[in-house]
Amino acid sequence: MHAFLILKLVSQYYLIKFKRVKNTKYVFVTGGVTSSLGKGIIAASLAKLLQERGYSVTIQKLDPYINIDPGTLNPYEHGECYVTNDGAETDLDLGHYERFLNIPTSQANNVTTGRIYQSVIDRERRGDFLGKTVQVIPHITDEIKHRIQILGNTGDFDIVITEIGGTVGDIESLPYVETVRQLKWELGEHNAIVIHLTLVPYLAAAGELKTKPTQHSVKMLMQSGVNPDILVCRTERHLTDGIKRKLALFCNVQKEDVIESIDAETIYDVPNFMFEEGLDEVVLKKLRLSDDRKPNLNAWNNFLRKHKNPKHTVKIGLIGKYVELQDAYKSINEAFIHAGSTNEINVDLHWIHSENINKSNVKNKLKNLHGILVAPGFGERGIEGKIQAVKFARENKVPFFGICLGMQIAVIEFARNVLDLQNANSTEMDEHTEFPVISLMEEQKNISNKGGTMRLGAWDCKIEKKSNVFKAYKTQLISERHRHRYEFNNEYLKQMADAGLVATGINPETNLVEIIEIPDQPWFVGVQYHPEYKSTVLNPHPLFVAFVRACLDAKK
Ligand code: GLN
Repeated sequence: MHAFLILKLVSQYYLIKFKRVKNTKYVFVTGGVTSSLGKGIIAASLAKLLQERGYSVTIQKLDPYINIDPGTLNPYEHGECYVTNDGAETDLDLGHYERFLNIPTSQANNVTTGRIYQSVIDRERRGDFLGKTVQVIPHITDEIKHRIQILGNTGDFDIVITEIGGTVGDIESLPYVETVRQLKWELGEHNAIVIHLTLVPYLAAAGELKTKPTQHSVKMLMQSGVNPDILVCRTERHLTDGIKRKLALFCNVQKEDVIESIDAETIYDVPNFMFEEGLDEVVLKKLRLSDDRKPNLNAWNNFLRKHKNPKHTVKIGLIGKYVELQDAYKSINEAFIHAGSTNEINVDLHWIHSENINKSNVKNKLKNLHGILVAPGFGERGIEGKIQAVKFARENKVPFFGICLGMQIAVIEFARNVLDLQNANSTEMDEHTEFPVISLMEEQKNISNKGGTMRLGAWDCKIEKKSNVFKAYKTQLISERHRHRYEFNNEYLKQMADAGLVATGINPETNLVEIIEIPDQPWFVGVQYHPEYKSTVLNPHPLFVAFVRACLDAKK
């Protein structure tokens, strides 16, 4: 017993002595003047620079809306819903974080007001507040504080960057700004800083850059008790020294704390721009962290160089129903940029609305393309146009890539036009179809709550060696992220395979089909999962890389 106790004490001593528990520092990013200034890109660029200086960094997004998560939001309103490995449906900014940092995020990286209130109300019902009145301050702000520090308390990060969604002055943002005020105070100087992102507009009529909106926005922030430590100013024209000095004077910061963020040709230029402006350096100085090691952006700049100097161009049609808002397919768009750069190919994406495609115009609309991608989606609208697009790709041997719904459409098209199963469909579109080639699994059928039936997050898939996907992945076991409800109906597996559409990827536990291919075609791949979520600057997704290359081969 004695010996055991001594052993335990000794081991604890060494654990404390040698485990490098990090003293996590916090950077808050707020926004003023207007929305859409690109807080997410600034946060991701700063994180990239700090990461390349050797710091471990993560980024978190706090969203001030009342939805529990963006899963149920219309893509027209909010852009794409990004899915993490742990199956969280999150804001699309998390996609930027992963693409820039090349490390996965999780549910903890995205918190909404809905989620905050839900957990406070759940605790109130459990009686956790001992008869107290539950209020925004301290109960909601405490919960926000707790959520901000979950990542910091893991001990894995030197720096946690927290992006506060919305604009300072919005009613919804108030509890968050108040939390930042409290945390800054509690954590103390050099442990938490605030970067405020604003707009410095250029007035053509006056021929001048205007600082007043920034002054007002900083004033608004200060009314809530928060002094910004650094200003990042979005602008179309370079800020003169005079403008920087003026901003510094009016906004309580030093001139070197005023950082210009000029419009960039691509978001991937922003880390370099921020480095030139010294953003990472002032952040480190204010956090009392060493800036000895300079960021190593070699790999990043190699990507940029190839992206900007392509040797070829391919035209790829993206067939979807949310094409009016390109943010709805953000990750697909970015995955093509990564894959294009790897291949030194400029991918010229043509966004084509599936509702505008029909039997008589399909040839005209698609004939000049070197590849066709049918996008993910939900519901019946635009389905027939997508089926026509797949048929055109198959009959003309145009490289085809179907993602999620796009894969399901490829199966439906094959069933209808090759197997001659008239009106074959997914039960999502036609519940009583005679040939449900895509359907719910038996065990899903009794779940009435829609959210409950979704397959979300990372699942394994085993790949057939003789396939185009194996050539791309170069490994047999992969894991990819899902967000769908319906599945390939295995009752049709044999019939399809006999006619030439084979399942080349299967989930080893459930036997669900993950990948289909038509080996007789140059490159015809449909995947039930979303490969686009895992594509990053430094790790372009192998299927996008292979598809883009197949499109170039088709062009030649
Ligand atoms: N609507 C289809 C399903 O739920 C596909 C979803 C998607 O493309 N993400 O299965």
